[in-house]
Amino acid sequence: MKNFLSLMLFLIGSSAFAQYSGLEKDYKSVENKVIEWRRDIHQNPELSNREFKTAEKIAKHLRSLGIEVQTGVAHTGVVGILKGDQDGKVIALRADIDALPVYERNDLPYKSNVTSEFLGEKVGVMHACGHDTHTAILMGVAEVLSKNKDKIKGTVKFIFQPAEEGPPPGEEGGALLMVKEGVLKNPDVDAIFGLHINSQTPVGVIRYKSGGTMAAAQSFTINVKGKQSHGSQPWSGIDPIMISAKIIDGLQTIISREVNLTQEAAVITVGKIKSGVRFNIIPESAEMIGTIRTLDYDMKDHINKRMMEMVPDIAKAYGAVATIEIKDATDITYNDPALVEQMLPTMKRVAGDSNVQTQNAVTGAEDFSYFQREVPGFFFFLGGMTPGTTESFPHHTPDFLIDDSGLNLGVRTLTEMSLDYLNRSISNDTKIKG
Ligand SMILES: [Zn+2]
Ligand SMILES: [Zn+2]
Repeated sequence: MKNFLSLMLFLIGSSAFAQYSGLEKDYKSVENKVIEWRRDIHQNPELSNREFKTAEKIAKHLRSLGIEVQTGVAHTGVVGILKGDQDGKVIALRADIDALPVYERNDLPYKSNVTSEFLGEKVGVMHACGHDTHTAILMGVAEVLSKNKDKIKGTVKFIFQPAEEGPPPGEEGGALLMVKEGVLKNPDVDAIFGLHINSQTPVGVIRYKSGGTMAAAQSFTINVKGKQSHGSQPWSGIDPIMISAKIIDGLQTIISREVNLTQEAAVITVGKIKSGVRFNIIPESAEMIGTIRTLDYDMKDHINKRMMEMVPDIAKAYGAVATIEIKDATDITYNDPALVEQMLPTMKRVAGDSNVQTQNAVTGAEDFSYFQREVPGFFFFLGGMTPGTTESFPHHTPDFLIDDSGLNLGVRTLTEMSLDYLNRSISNDTKIKG
């Protein structure tokens, strides 16, 4: 039965669906608005779980379109429900809305000069991952679809998600909290689509991978306790800074000497070390925090086990005591292969065959994975790099830059994927019943 269903999905997916008449004028009318929204949001970024003004803008827009709106979902999230003229399945579209603690270095008319406080430190705030583009694209999709309810056979749920980058320590948030609060229920979501802009993929291009696509992310905290002494007399203390250096070295050998990197990629990064106050004091302790990225469950278990063994052992060798705690942050982003097959013809029709390309797995993580744990999902990448550009900057950096001429393709793709998914689901059911 499963094979039969897959075959049906494949056959239906392969058949060419005609373009929807009348959509073109709506795509055109929304194109500049999407860019304006994106630039406004870019200039007014807000950190995870603090997206108050961004949420207000989204809710106001959805209400103006006559879409049913829920606010305050997972703190600052906004959910819109648009019922089509005919009954059918429920498709969810997700955009994340939060920014990062980064000082923007780009020279743009809509550059962010916003500062805030993050973990007690003054920081710049910047949409350095491009979630401003996701928000604007989904606002555009909502506008186009709300004008075309006659073409919708079912319901579209717009999920504007806070805190994708992770809630501040001690707070809940993001996709996990949205799922917990029932965002995929009432009406029950059958499938979910999401996209991520990419600063190193040319405008006009869509990239995707079937199956495991983005890594599981974990965070770790290491505490090294030594013995404080005068900086001139190291022999009378135990130096936690020197021991931290040995630990970092040891952790990197797990990656370079112990895991089979030809099978899948894996990463351990120490992102912060905190220790000491003065040049002539050997401090008592050091703290390190960092991240682990894995794309394979066995590899994840091995790396975790070896880190737990190695950290206390290395410290012990130098007379110190070290503890390590590892926490799960995000699961593997897994694109349902049947859903991918089903939606590829739509993507190719909208973007053009040669512009829809496969790609390797990514060691970045996405909390979209929490939605995909509940319902089949398809998460893909949208080009945001100016064609012909030789230099582009990665996400999460002060020079990260997106060419917003690429956003309209995002609007078109998500709009038609939604319409096709709902229409195909109906024809699929009908055929199976028949
Ligand atoms: Zn990010
Ligand atoms: Zn992101």
